[in-house]
Amino acid sequence: MSFNNIIGNSRVKNILKKGLKRERVPNSLLFLGPGGVGKRETALVLAKAMNCLSKSDDSCEECANCRAINENKFPDVLVLAPEKDMIGIDEIRMLKQVAYLRPMVGKGRVFIVLEAEKMTEPASNSFLKILEEPPLFSHIFLTSRNPYLILSTVRSRCQILTFSQISRKDIQKELINNGYDEYKAGLISLLVKGNLEQAMNLKWEDVQSKRQRAWELFQALTGGKNAAGMFKKFFSSGKEFRKELEQILEILITLMRDLLLIKSSRGWELLLNPDYADKMGETAGVLSVEKSMAYLKLLESIHYSLQKRVNANLLVSSLFSEIIPG
Ligand SMILES: [Zn+2]
Repeated sequence: MSFNNIIGNSRVKNILKKGLKRERVPNSLLFLGPGGVGKRETALVLAKAMNCLSKSDDSCEECANCRAINENKFPDVLVLAPEKDMIGIDEIRMLKQVAYLRPMVGKGRVFIVLEAEKMTEPASNSFLKILEEPPLFSHIFLTSRNPYLILSTVRSRCQILTFSQISRKDIQKELINNGYDEYKAGLISLLVKGNLEQAMNLKWEDVQSKRQRAWELFQALTGGKNAAGMFKKFFSSGKEFRKELEQILEILITLMRDLLLIKSSRGWELLLNPDYADKMGETAGVLSVEKSMAYLKLLESIHYSLQKRVNANLLVSSLFSEIIPG
C-alpha cells in the first residue's frame, strides 16, 4: 500500500509528502483520529517512503526495502502494538535502547507505536525524553484514537496530524471497487460512520440480519404492535447493546425516510431500501405524513442522544413512552 492507495485524508498525505520531499519529516509524530481511517497504514507508508530505494515522497512497493517492510522483515522499522490491551514500560525501554543505535540497513530507524493511549503511565513517562529529542536518524510515530487518554506531556512533545472520518461517498466507492453493488455499498457506508476498515470487514449477511430486525421494529412501531417487547427481545443483554441499537436505529431511520419519500410519490430513485419499497407501500397507505414525521423526529433525537452517551436503557423506555403510550 502506498499513499495513492490510502483513501481520504488528502491533507495529511500532502503534508507528509512535502516533508518527505524536503527530507524534513518530524522525528516525533502523533497520528490522531477515529478508528478505521488509515492511521496505521499511513504511518507504514511513511516508514517505507523514508527508506524506499526508488521514490522520494511515496513507497514504490517494489524495491527490497519496501517489500521487506511489508513483510515485517526490515530490521530498522519496528511496529509496537498493545499486548493484553496495554503497552508497558519494558517495551518502551527496549524501543529506547534500539532507537539510539544507528540504522542497520535503512536510511533511518522508524518506530510505530499503535494505540499509544494504551501506554501505561510509567511507560509514557519513560518515553518523554526520547520523544523530545530523538536521535536524528530515529523517527517515532504514535497513533491514537483518543487524545485525552494520552499524557499531555507525551502529546506536547509530538507534532500532531489529525485524521478525519472517511466520507460516505469514498467508502461507497471503495466498496463498489470491491464488488458490492451500489445499493449495498450505500447502506454499508451509512452504517459504519466513516470507518473504512469496518466497512471492508462487514459481512453482508450481518448487515441483512440487522436490516431484518430494523424492519420488524418498523412494522411494530408503525402498526401499533408491541414494539417495546420486541426491543427488549432484540437488546436483552450484552455490552454490544449500544452499538447494535445505534446501527439498527440508523437503518430504522432510513426506513422511515423512505416511507416519507414513498408517501410523497417522488424520489423513488433516492430510496435507501428499494427492496422494502413494495412492503412499505401498505404502511404508506395508512400512516399520515404528520405521524411519519413525528416518528422520524423521535428516532433521530434518540439516535442523537445515544451518541451523546445517554443511558441506552433509558432511551428505549423513552422511545416507547412517547410513541406508544402505556
Ligand atoms: Zn520502495
